[in-house]
Amino acid sequence: MATLTHTDALAPIGDKVEAGERLDFEDGVALLESDDLLGLGELADLARRVRGGGDEVYFVQNLYLNQTNVCRVKCKFCAFAATQKQEAAYTITTDELVADALRQREHTGFTEIHMVNGENPHVGFDFYLDTTRALHEAMPDVHLKLYTASEIHHMTKLSGLSHEEVLRELRDAGLGSLPGGGAEVFADRVRRLIAPGKEHPDFWFHTHRTAHALGIPTHCTMLYGHVETYEERVDHWLRLRELQDETGGFLAFIPLAFHPENTVFERRGWKHTTGADDLKMIAVSRLMLDNVPNIKAYWIMMGMPLAQVALHFGANDVQGTVVREEIFHAAGARTETEQKIEELVRFVQAAGRVPVQRDTLYNELHRW
Ligand code: SF4
Repeated sequence: MATLTHTDALAPIGDKVEAGERLDFEDGVALLESDDLLGLGELADLARRVRGGGDEVYFVQNLYLNQTNVCRVKCKFCAFAATQKQEAAYTITTDELVADALRQREHTGFTEIHMVNGENPHVGFDFYLDTTRALHEAMPDVHLKLYTASEIHHMTKLSGLSHEEVLRELRDAGLGSLPGGGAEVFADRVRRLIAPGKEHPDFWFHTHRTAHALGIPTHCTMLYGHVETYEERVDHWLRLRELQDETGGFLAFIPLAFHPENTVFERRGWKHTTGADDLKMIAVSRLMLDNVPNIKAYWIMMGMPLAQVALHFGANDVQGTVVREEIFHAAGARTETEQKIEELVRFVQAAGRVPVQRDTLYNELHRW
């Protein structure tokens, strides 16, 4: 094993990582407080390999859809949502959505549809159920990764059904997995400041735990770079790690950087996270989430050049050849919205890794 070059402050944590020991709350805070960026990357890469990771870097061909941006919640960090009366508001019918997806399929052979929406109070549970069923019937071989835990909770309100009943109905209609959104930062203090209208995080956990029990795998996220402290970030990871110990149902963790454009925080002069913040978050996510197999460097948010570096900071997934992405672009993300496979392959290979196209469940489809 190569000699590690990180600073003395990281040495005790490095020993734990090499021994395969679990890191604790204090370790997490110490990692975030460290300015030894390259040392963090080295430790995270070591952690990835100690836990069995190889040179593979995964990506999926997927289509991003948003059926409605109408939302009752008004999270302060959100540049996507609109009220029904605003000019930008839209709600697409099931037929239109399916026709659009089929049109897109003529151009790209996506294997996954990723769809999240606003919590629209003007539709019923049937809206979601019909859409899931219609997408599944039109494209039975495409994996449907639909609806955040917040939307599932919203559906329980619309229908009077329990979380389990909603998830069962969606699963029976064709739902394959849940995306990880709606987690934000779990700490009560943070949620009161950035998303006071959103349900308590206990519902996020209840939804994911229930999904896992029903055999529906899910993803998990953290939206960082706003009002949260390092301690609150670590608390967030530890809560996810605990549920993963219990169920094993998380496929991947995706750290999402906050984009202030077109939000109330832009008017307060808030800035984007820096590349150093983003790399640190990838590295410490890998180190703390020792039971989540995949850490995504979401290139649409960080840009492909930085995502390439992130592959040496513990990330092993670059998400995908995203066709259309509206949420981060509403908040000013500046990357191209479609990244062709050849380009992704070139970036991954140039970073010294092996590109592997996967399906949503990490089955290998093709390797270069
Ligand atoms: S983040 Fe989601 S729940 Fe919050 S306002 Fe935006 S669309 Fe609505």
